[in-house]
Order: sequence, then structure tokens, then C-alpha cells
Amino acid sequence: MVPDYHLHTPLCKHAQGTPEEFRDAARSLGIPEICFTDHCPNPDGYDPGNRMGLGQYLQYRRSITMLRDGSLPEVLFGIEVDFYEGCDVFLREWLPAQGFDYVLGSVHFIDGWGFDNPDSRHIWDDVDVTATWRIYFGLISRLAKTGLFDAVGHLDLPKKFNHRPRERDLVEMAQPALDRIAEAGMGLEINASGLRKTVAEIYPSALLLRLAREREIPVCFGSDAHRPEDVGAGLEAAQDLARDAGYTEYFRIKGRKKYLVGL
Ligand code: ZN
Ligand code: FE
Ligand code: FE
Ligand code: ZN
Repeated sequence: MVPDYHLHTPLCKHAQGTPEEFRDAARSLGIPEICFTDHCPNPDGYDPGNRMGLGQYLQYRRSITMLRDGSLPEVLFGIEVDFYEGCDVFLREWLPAQGFDYVLGSVHFIDGWGFDNPDSRHIWDDVDVTATWRIYFGLISRLAKTGLFDAVGHLDLPKKFNHRPRERDLVEMAQPALDRIAEAGMGLEINASGLRKTVAEIYPSALLLRLAREREIPVCFGSDAHRPEDVGAGLEAAQDLARDAGYTEYFRIKGRKKYLVGL
């Protein structure tokens, strides 16, 4: 089993189960290492319904670090951070001071629209799908250019409800974003949660993963579990996808320093 580097906790208001229960689920599956990456708080009033408040952050940190008892799985302390206009003002000061092992950068919003939220799914019917994807990848490029993050989460998240650009357009718009990710020395998360969604496909697709491989962008694996039953879910398929794309190694991380391990 590979590490599961994407676990949430109930502090985000849309997950269930205690951190201990997530850890125990990983332990019973023989997963050697897990990283909690709950949704990052902010002082900007950005999407407060889907994340802990800043006042809950120390509770988050304590609930994760108290799981470190020398037994397996090793428990890393991470965070899933939304990239949005102006987020860097807070993050540039705050992130380095928290002692994170892993900082995952994600985009879940376009102009205030939570495009992957089932409650806002109907908006897809009123937008230009290709133009929306283009804006999304522009945000990913800007995320990478901040230099604040260790990896990009669920790279092709806009496919969640099966809204896709033509393949030619996808390649054309994804390549600059992947170039920025490579330049920033960032990794890419292979996120198996798409298997549990409408799209029934891992993020990113085999095509995008091949483009990442060409740029030698290192990968890691995450279930994006929001309940203990989903810890490790789909990670076998995610490893197969990585191998099929030509990967022979994946990255692990500690104290925000990546190191490569054989796949
Ligand atoms: Zn979530
Ligand atoms: Fe996410
Ligand atoms: Fe997540
Ligand atoms: Zn996520």
C-alpha cells in the first residue's frame, strides 16, 4: 500500500469520523503513512461553510499531532489550501509558521462559483464549458506561480460532473499550467475520489498524467476521504494509472521536503 495523502476531518463541516477513526482505518488496511489535509481556514470570509474557522485551527493541529505514537501509520500534518485572488496575503506569513509536512493547493471556485459543489452543479448548464476550463487552468498556473504549495490537488476537478472540453483544447490549455507546476518544483496528486463521483474517473486523467510525466512532475496519492470508510479507496487503481503513465517512483514528504520512493 502507498501512503494516503489526502484525508479530511469533521472540522470542515462536510466530513464524518474522528481523526482516530481515519487513522485506524488506514492501520487496518496496512497503509504505512497518512496525511491529514483538511480545508484551510482564512481571515477573508472565503467559503466559511466548508472549512474550520481560524479559531479552530489549533484544535485541528492538536487532533492530528496527538495521533503520533510511534506506531504505523505515520501521521503527517498537512492542509488543503484553496487558491483564490489575494489568498497569498495571509498565506505567505501564516503557512510557513505552522510546521506543516505537506501543503496541497486546490482550486474549487471560479468567480465565486463552487463548480464542483453538487448544489451549484446546475450552473454548468449556463456556462461555456471550454471557456470555464480555460479559466480554471489559468487559476492553476497562478496557484503554481505563488510558490506557496507542495502539490496540486485533483488537477482536472472540473470534469467531476462530466463536463469536458475537447481533448485538443484540454491539452492546449493544460500544458502551460503543467509547465508552471514543473517550474515551481511542485508535485501532482493522483486523487482517487473521482472514482466515487459522477465522472467515475481518477483525477487527473491518463492523458494529463502523461503530460505531467513528460515534465517529470512527481506524483503522490490521495483518497480525499471525508469519512473513515473511504481511507485508501481507489489507491490501487491510482498506482496502476501512474505506472501506465510511465511513473516508476512517487513522492513522500516530511516537513515540506519531498523524497522519491519506488512504485
Ligand atoms: Zn472537502
Ligand atoms: Fe479539494
Ligand atoms: Fe480534499
Ligand atoms: Zn479535495
